[in-house]
Formats: sequence, structure tokens, C-alpha cells
Amino acid sequence: MKTIFAQSSSGRKGVIPAKPERTAEDMLPKYLLRRTPPRMPQVSELDVVRHFTALSRKNYNIDNNFYPLGSCTMKYNPKFMEYAASLPGFALMHPLLAQQPGGESMTQGSLEVIHETERLLAEVTGMAAFSLQPMAGAQGELTGALLIAAYHKHKGNKKSKIICPDSAHGTNPATAALAGYEVINIASKDGVLDPQILGNALDDSVAALMMTCPNTLGLFEKHLPELVEKLRASDALLYYDGANFNAIMGRMRVGDVGFDVVHLNLHKTMGTPHGGGGPGSGPVGVSERLVPFLPGPCVYKKTDGSFALQDNLPLSIGRVTPFYGHFGVFIKALAYMLRLGGHGLARASDFAVLNANYMRKRLERVLEIPYNEICMHEFVASASAYETHGVKALDIAKALLERGYHAPTVYFPLIIKECLMFEPTETENKATLDKFCDDLIEILEQAEKNPENLRAAPVNLPVRRLDETKAAREMVLVDEV
Ligand SMILES: *Cc1c(COP(=O)(O)O)cnc(C)c1O
Repeated sequence: MKTIFAQSSSGRKGVIPAKPERTAEDMLPKYLLRRTPPRMPQVSELDVVRHFTALSRKNYNIDNNFYPLGSCTMKYNPKFMEYAASLPGFALMHPLLAQQPGGESMTQGSLEVIHETERLLAEVTGMAAFSLQPMAGAQGELTGALLIAAYHKHKGNKKSKIICPDSAHGTNPATAALAGYEVINIASKDGVLDPQILGNALDDSVAALMMTCPNTLGLFEKHLPELVEKLRASDALLYYDGANFNAIMGRMRVGDVGFDVVHLNLHKTMGTPHGGGGPGSGPVGVSERLVPFLPGPCVYKKTDGSFALQDNLPLSIGRVTPFYGHFGVFIKALAYMLRLGGHGLARASDFAVLNANYMRKRLERVLEIPYNEICMHEFVASASAYETHGVKALDIAKALLERGYHAPTVYFPLIIKECLMFEPTETENKATLDKFCDDLIEILEQAEKNPENLRAAPVNLPVRRLDETKAAREMVLVDEV
């Protein structure tokens, strides 16, 4: 397919702009004017529409079919949320307007959206306050780790380590290291964190524990109360990676259990599609003792009921993003929470957990499930039994592509061999789950009878198997394929 630039034909136009009353030359000082015209494709309106429609068809997306990608919720996102985010009053607002003189009075609606979204997230997580600034889960983690560091520094604590269990998401240890901490890795036991093992790793130099819950095996950390108690006793803070909030929302409040920091991924749980590199949002919530350190500026409600930006925050870690994060994602999250209500949020979690357990039970006869117990929103299976036929998890994933599905996550988490990780999500119905399980079971029968077919898959897709090393080392980028 040609790029839009390769389709350019000199003089072709998609729009005829009105003649401006004043030109850039009239309005700008000379040194700001560009010397060469911008390189824009010269195409007709139909060229543009056809080009982007064709591009969208090349991409596998949730509007096509089932997407059981574990660890990264990809689900149907209500189209109503897109409508809310595209309302012109929001979409056309300049992100810097609120900071201009007199700008606050012109941005009251947007400031209220930020304030209300932070307030409702605090409510559903049981935290004292939230900041919507971070623009991804991993950036929410980094913000959280910086808050932890600011807290200890303010108290005069000398703490240099963060504990991460082996069942934590990979971003947790990476974040702790980026924030300047030494990462202490501890093993999980029976798939979860063990109070005894944690106790052995704890000493005065530990600043915090970073835990992913449900963890990367899809299991709930059932020893939470004992873990919290141990950490509190040694003045270490508790970090909750709540990226997969759809497993617990409306059923458990992280703050009530005693956590100090939590980040959520609004682009996984709250109405914004994940994947495709679209805008993300990883808000971070904190307990009372960390509130003074939250990023600034923050939005607050004045006594007269209007909203304003507060920048005079002496203990704040400062700004972590330009503007105020990804505003469009907040609108979707707010619309999602208001539309579902507390009861609806709990029901969404219930279905996420029910669907994962339904699939786990349907597949347990054909795939080994290393920790075969009630799971949360996802579960992890191992295909290592099929290695005797020369079939690997990757072959199974490729065969699923051939049948029109997005593959599940493979080879993650690292603690399970030949691993396949499934997350059906709350929004798929039983017929979809059954069809997928039937197809997967058929593929696994093939693995025994005709393993060479699986190793060759996919044969009917535009691209077959790539030499991934070569693709990375000798990348050839061309306009046309
Ligand atoms: C997706 C995910 C992250 C990282 O979020 P990004 O938005 O991709 O940075 C962190 N932790 C867990 C458990 C996740 O599933």
C-alpha cells in the first residue's frame, strides 16, 4: 500500500480553504515565518478517505473479533464514550487555556471533569486523592515511586530498596530501578506472595513493596492483611499495581486494605481502547500521608463551587506531564463511571472474573494450568505438554491467527514455560467464549495429529512467519508492500 505522501499529485486538493482576511505575514514577525512551504500530501478528499479506511482494515482490532490478550485488557469500549470525548466543547479546547490570565473562567467544564474524575477514582479505590497527570501505566508507577521517595526524604528516612516479587508485572522492577532504588526480587510461593518470604527480605532499608494484584498469574494475593502488617511495622510503603482494575473494581478498595499508592490504567479498564499505541492514562492515587507530594498543578474546588488550578504546592514532586495528561481519556473514564454506577462497576468485575474462570474450566482438559485454582480476570496455561509433538506456544498462537483471532499473550509471565495467557474480559458473551474454546481445542487436536500443519501456520494470511531477528536487524522500510 502506498503512503499518503506517495499518492500526492501536484495541485490536487481535498479542500478549498476560504481566503483569510489576514495572512500569517500580516500577523507574525518575519523571523517566525517558515521559509519553505510545509511538505503536505496533495490529494483529493476521496483519496484521504480511501487511504485511511484501507489502513484501518489492515489492523486487527476489537471491532473485528475476539482479542483474548492477557495482561492487557483489550475489550469492547462503549462507543458512547467516544461521543462524550469528541464533544466540541472538550475536543477543541486548547490544553493551555486554563493557565492563561482569565482562562479559568473559560475552562470550568474541563476543570470539573478533571476534579470529578479524580474524586470518583478516589472513591472507588478508597484512596485519599488522585492525580490524573501520568500518561501510561508505567508512568503512573514512576510517579508513585517518586512519591514514595519524596515521602521518605521528607521524613528523613534513609531507604534505598524496593521489593518486587517475581509475579509482579515487568514494569514494576523497571520503575523502581528508574527511580533510583535497588530492586530486591523475591520468589512467590504457590503462585502468590508469601508473608514469611517477604518477612525475610524486610529490613530498615526497604522503602516499599511494589505488588501487582491480581498478579501476572491472574491470582489474587490472598495474604494481603499479613503482608500489609509486616510492611507497616518496618515503615515501608505499599504500592499496588492496579493496571487490571477490572478484576476488583466495585468489590475491593485498595485504600481500605492499607495501600499507600495505586495506579490504574484507564486505557485498560475505563472505556478507552488499549493497544495500537493510542493515548493512555495511568492516574495515581495515594493515602493521606502522601497527598502533599502529589504532582502539581492540581485542580481544586473553591468555596464558591468553581474550579481552579493550584500550583503553590511546596512539597509536590512537580509536574510529571505537559498540560494535564490525556484529557480525552478522563472524559471517557468519567462517562464510564457515571453510566455504570457503583453497582455496574462491580458487575463488570464479576463478569471479567466469571468469564476467565469459565474459559479456564473449559480448557483445563487440553492445556496444563500450572496454578489451577479460581483466578481473577485472566489465567495462565502452559503448552509444554505439546513439545513432545514439536509444537510450541508460538505455533498455537499462529494457528489462532489463521482462524481470525488475535493471539493470547505468549511467553509471559516468564515463570511459566511455554506459556499462554488468556484474558477474555467482561464484555464477551458465552457464545464467543465457546466458539474460541472449540477452535482452540481443535487446534490442539491438530497439534497431536498433524503437528507440521501447526508449525507452518499461518498459510492463508497476507504475511506468513517472519524471521523476527532479521526483521529487527535488517529493517527495510518501503512505501509499497
Ligand atoms: C499494562 C500493565 C502495565 C503497564 O501499563 P502501560 O500503560 O503499558 O505502561 C503495568 N502493570 C500491569 C499489571 C499491566 O497489566
